Amino acid sequence: MSIKRYEQDLPAELRLGPVVAVDTETMGLNLRRDRLCVVQLSDGDGVAHVVRFAPGQYQAPNLARMLADRQVLKLFHFARFDLGVLQTYLGVGVGPVYCTKIASKLARTYTDRHGLKDLCQELLGVDLSKEMQSSDWGVEQLSERQLSYAASDVLHLHRLRAKLDAMLEREGRAALAAACFAFLPERVALDLAGWSDIDPFAH
Ligand code: MN
Repeated sequence: MSIKRYEQDLPAELRLGPVVAVDTETMGLNLRRDRLCVVQLSDGDGVAHVVRFAPGQYQAPNLARMLADRQVLKLFHFARFDLGVLQTYLGVGVGPVYCTKIASKLARTYTDRHGLKDLCQELLGVDLSKEMQSSDWGVEQLSERQLSYAASDVLHLHRLRAKLDAMLEREGRAALAAACFAFLPERVALDLAGWSDIDPFAH
């Protein structure tokens, strides 16, 4: 009873393993043009770790090892973008992955509002400020406002996952969600190989 259906679809070692929320900040939305500036991490204990990268200095072997560790589930909101960035700059294939945006699209079919701000508001009653989203993440010294914005992007993902998993289970879509998460690395590989604007499933 206490094991969710989604958990049953995961490999045995992941059911009770560590879960780390991850986000990135970049100079923009073009993977080739806009470099990775910041990686944020939280293990769900209310503490966020913010890692800043200087231009061209992307040696982070411990971080890369954790991101690729099959025993550690990584939580993202819109994982597709972050996975492309992390592959491009840290050279790491991230997995396994859970994406709160995909979970929301499969569970919350009564709305088209699937932004992190929308999810935090509706599911957690948390008001997220997005004003620093488009600030200059390439600076040497991040401001206090940037740091707290960066932290807030990973601090709520564990609780969002719990809420979304309950909805997915209720609606009988947990297995579908798990299949989408499992396909994410392939979707990202298509993005990086030049199919970013093409959906091979579309007519
Ligand atoms: Mn972010």
